[in-house]
Amino acid sequence: MSTDTQSRKIHAAVVDSHQHLAFQQLDLAEPLENEVLVNIVACGICHTDLGFMTEGAILGHEGAGIVERVGSAVTAVKPGDHVLLSYQSCGKCAPCEDHQPYACEHFTKLNFGFQRLDGSSAYPEKVHGHFFGQSAFADYTLVTEQNLVKVDADLPLNVLAPLGCGVQTGAGTVLNTLKVQPGESLMVMGTGAVGLSAIMAAKIAGAKTIIAVDRDPARLALASKLGATETINSDQENYLATLCPHLDYVIDTTGIGHLDEFAQEVLKAGGTLVRLTGSASEPLTQGRKAISVIQGNSVAQEFLPQLITYWQQGEFPLEQLITYYDFDDINRAVRDAKRGNVIKAVLVWE
Ligand SMILES: [Zn+2]
Ligand SMILES: [Zn+2]
Repeated sequence: MSTDTQSRKIHAAVVDSHQHLAFQQLDLAEPLENEVLVNIVACGICHTDLGFMTEGAILGHEGAGIVERVGSAVTAVKPGDHVLLSYQSCGKCAPCEDHQPYACEHFTKLNFGFQRLDGSSAYPEKVHGHFFGQSAFADYTLVTEQNLVKVDADLPLNVLAPLGCGVQTGAGTVLNTLKVQPGESLMVMGTGAVGLSAIMAAKIAGAKTIIAVDRDPARLALASKLGATETINSDQENYLATLCPHLDYVIDTTGIGHLDEFAQEVLKAGGTLVRLTGSASEPLTQGRKAISVIQGNSVAQEFLPQLITYWQQGEFPLEQLITYYDFDDINRAVRDAKRGNVIKAVLVWE
């Protein structure tokens, strides 16, 4: 075996014992036959990253970059191709075979287990990579054909990086899961990146009533600009009195208890409440139902190109959500994301 193919030095932001991210030089194994080595150009910060700040972890799951090297069994991309990264799936189980990778039987292991499907790791001991099959808070990472999407080389990777998780979740819930129809009505609670993506998608779908709920006036103003037809400030005591009931759908991105009650009151009989908060789904009254959705039921290789087309047509102005940070400023970016000072932080290498 030649020594130059065994590993490569990379720079990755590793969580330390104080929940601080510190760049380390590490050895990353060269790609297995089904893997693709990607030179990361940009990576969004998603709230799911903030929930996994455990020592040794390399987070980051909205990566975008350029293919550096491919394993012998890879056919979807070649070195030099530009790619967006998304959630990981196995490609082999029944749901994957059935074209539903978001329902992959190995979803938890592959996205939150910090390991490959076979349990191995390409990272040194005590470092936990393979988060969402990417761990893209780094200059290089290993992915598979299942979680990459090839895009045209003239597209801006720094703008499109967030498509692979938060944006796809919000937009996919509207377009893939609910399949919102022209003239329908919905409320979106919480106007972070997921909520605003849902609002932009609802406008594209032709929804007649799009109500945005948040406590931040600046975010509500942006929601109006992006397609909300009405806004409700949930910090105002009388907001419950402002509601117009009988909506077809409510999408909750907040997980705040009293908003959940509000949601059920404004929903029409037979309407659907989507909880994008990981909380359990239980039956509601009057034929209303509550569902939880994973990744907007999106097949990234199909849905991301669709969203890119909307973006190119000016219907999905994703750049209005983004604040850029140099990767060296990752701790400031994480802090701003945590405090809600920014809607979507995107890290870029200088
Ligand atoms: Zn699978
Ligand atoms: Zn995410």
